Amino acid sequence: MLKGVAASPGIAIGKAHVIKSYQININTEVIAQEDLEAQIKRLDEAIASSKSQIMKIKEKAERELGADKAEIFGAHLMVLEDPVLLDEIKTKIKSELITADNAVSQVVNNYIEIFSNMEDEYMKERAADIKDVGERIIKNLLGIPTDSLVFSEKVIIIAKDLTPSDTAQMDKDNVLAFATDMGGRTSHTAIMARSLEIPAVVGLVDATDKVQEGDTVIVDGNKGTIYINPEESVLKEYEILKQNYLEYRKKLRELKDLPAETSDKLRRVELAANIGTPRDVKGALENGAEGVGLYRTEFLYMDRDALPTEEEQYKAYREVIEKMAPRPIIIRTLDIGGDKQLSYLDMPEELNPFLGWRAIRMCLDRPQILKTQLRAILRASAYGNAKIMYPMVSGPEEIKRANAILKEAKEELKAEGIPFDENIEVGIMVEIPSTAVIADILAKDVDFFSIGTNDLIQYTLAVDRMNEHISHLYQPLHPAVLRLIKNVIDASHKAGKWTGMCGEMAGDPWATAILLGMGLDEFSMSASSIPQVKNIIRSLTYEKAKEIAQKALSMDNPEDIRNMVKEEMEKINSPIM
Ligand code: PEP
Ligand code: MG
Repeated sequence: MLKGVAASPGIAIGKAHVIKSYQININTEVIAQEDLEAQIKRLDEAIASSKSQIMKIKEKAERELGADKAEIFGAHLMVLEDPVLLDEIKTKIKSELITADNAVSQVVNNYIEIFSNMEDEYMKERAADIKDVGERIIKNLLGIPTDSLVFSEKVIIIAKDLTPSDTAQMDKDNVLAFATDMGGRTSHTAIMARSLEIPAVVGLVDATDKVQEGDTVIVDGNKGTIYINPEESVLKEYEILKQNYLEYRKKLRELKDLPAETSDKLRRVELAANIGTPRDVKGALENGAEGVGLYRTEFLYMDRDALPTEEEQYKAYREVIEKMAPRPIIIRTLDIGGDKQLSYLDMPEELNPFLGWRAIRMCLDRPQILKTQLRAILRASAYGNAKIMYPMVSGPEEIKRANAILKEAKEELKAEGIPFDENIEVGIMVEIPSTAVIADILAKDVDFFSIGTNDLIQYTLAVDRMNEHISHLYQPLHPAVLRLIKNVIDASHKAGKWTGMCGEMAGDPWATAILLGMGLDEFSMSASSIPQVKNIIRSLTYEKAKEIAQKALSMDNPEDIRNMVKEEMEKINSPIM
């Protein structure tokens, strides 16, 4: 058994086709002056072939994966057509008298290095696009076949690495799964595999050495493992697992457009997504998110030299609001500090940064930062359904002060004649125990609560969420945490307000029945967790969920609570996978 990174879920069993990478031998000799023309011609021809190959792949991807997934090949074409890049290659050939393959390799490697060293994750990913295009041009220059992933029988591909164009070209009927030596979960190759729903494991290090052509291989894309020529008992076990998994996925897929309601239809909740940038909206919609329960705006402020302008923020918020419309978007105001620092803000060194100058505390000390952000959110609110949420609130005074700044922002916009949603809802995150305890007092000052369990658990149990030595003490199902959550939900309902949850616990399948039974109104989580949580909700009656919540609240320790949930879910024939 080899262990790698689970890149795309699913289980496949089949015969291995091992792709030994072609040796690319770059000709590094100096060329004669009279060969110059011939090298330039070779380059032009290789670029023309690369272009027509990519255009074909793009068309195939548009047909089979949709326009958004095919966009990446539009980006590849742009790299190919970039006059600066092509000029640089030609100048290098002429001034250094080197071969076209050598020049392409040098220029492309230089760009790959520049892009991979950038802080911005998005720019980093562009390095893979340039590498993919560069390799294609070189292969065309050297006469190495570029399109070889079409098969007449079913195979499991074992390769050193696959480019996004390899993945997009895969013939879904005949490629059962793939496994690679290199790669990570967020590479484009992995992203493509997930959207094609081809099981994949990446980062296996030496699979291409250990697997021989024709070996029987099991790829477990859920656990991130592969088995080579497994024993009969393992094969049998995996045949059953595969069948169960296929049935499970089929069921989850059917749920996408169905409401998150209990089987007796007595309780319906909202399932929303947490996002960090406008780019995350796509995944939210694909997984059936009914809104955004937490838009973490800090990413707009990070990896740069100065605060983002009102205009920049407005554009980002408006993009999300418009793309998700008419669904609600909860925009959280700047939550900086703790583990998230801004170098340009001159933040103090602190002994306990998580208990320090962070989030709303910092914003109230620097009201101009908050006002600029609130103006941007208000302006964007004219384009759909936006809500404002303050992070790290510990008591009523902070809400009043933040609302006073919000009022000023509204008055300014009114005076300037700029439209915004006058009735925009304003809520707070409940992530400090004091806030959870006095939720009844705070309920009259807010339109909604959203429980941030990531912090609430760390503060309630005094367990640093970043410290791996005490991670066993970080327990979402701890009775103290459950009681605080229940208190917040009850207090909000009594005041006619609603409560959501946007900490990771909202997407934790072990907590779903308990939270549902306690009356949580909205669950906001990583988009990919939505189908599983929806499935659990739809398999329960509201009565059963309430009974599970009651039981959990009367129990002493997290382990017993977990076992109780396991038993109850098995009893109703909806085991947690
Ligand atoms: C939380 O604390 O639960 C939360 C959602 O906020 P963050 O993880 O951004 O601190
Ligand atoms: Mg938090």
